[in-house]
Amino acid sequence: MRLLIAEDDPELRRQLREALEAAHYAVDCAPDGEEAAFLGETEPYDAVVLDLGLPRRDGLSVLRGWRGQGRTMPVLILTARGTWQEKVEGMDAGADDYLAKPFRMEELLARLRALIRRAGGQAAAELTCGPVSLDTRTGRVSVSGRPVTLTAHELRVLSYLMHHRGRVVSRTELTEHVYAQDFDRDSNTIEVFIGRLRRKLGVDVIHTERGLGYRLDAAP
Ligand code: CA
Repeated sequence: MRLLIAEDDPELRRQLREALEAAHYAVDCAPDGEEAAFLGETEPYDAVVLDLGLPRRDGLSVLRGWRGQGRTMPVLILTARGTWQEKVEGMDAGADDYLAKPFRMEELLARLRALIRRAGGQAAAELTCGPVSLDTRTGRVSVSGRPVTLTAHELRVLSYLMHHRGRVVSRTELTEHVYAQDFDRDSNTIEVFIGRLRRKLGVDVIHTERGLGYRLDAAP
């Protein structure tokens, strides 16, 4: 799962990056509206945290631009305290949720989890596929109740497949959602992660669709 943070306050941006990386997301950051608009137009994000008060181009205009181009990723806007007009304008411009500053990081994380789940058509915080379950709140994975320890990259691969269960996901798509922008990407490593995941899970839920990609499903 890969996120974009658009926030001009360096300290808050650092805190957001740290918290989201600790929650196992791949994270890109934009310090202004121009950069945010460009990244959101060109990179596939699973969710975006968008400050409305951004230099060079304001957040509302960035958001309207994305929606006008048919970009549908979930967007959570950060608004100044007590300005209900901003929230209303933001939701009308296509935001999926909002938080007023200052906010608790735990609340931001919970709202992002909910947005990402809903975008994948899932309502519960615990995702399951046959005997495999993933608690999106803690990142814990278990098979028939037995805990399985995964690396951050393995967890991102599994999490993306769990959120898109039953659908064929290409290696390119997985690569784009597992690595941050500045990471040296290699789609061959996805195969390695898949191999390790299969061994660690020990159950046959990740199916290879020849020439197309992978599909997570309890049934073959
Ligand atoms: Ca700001």
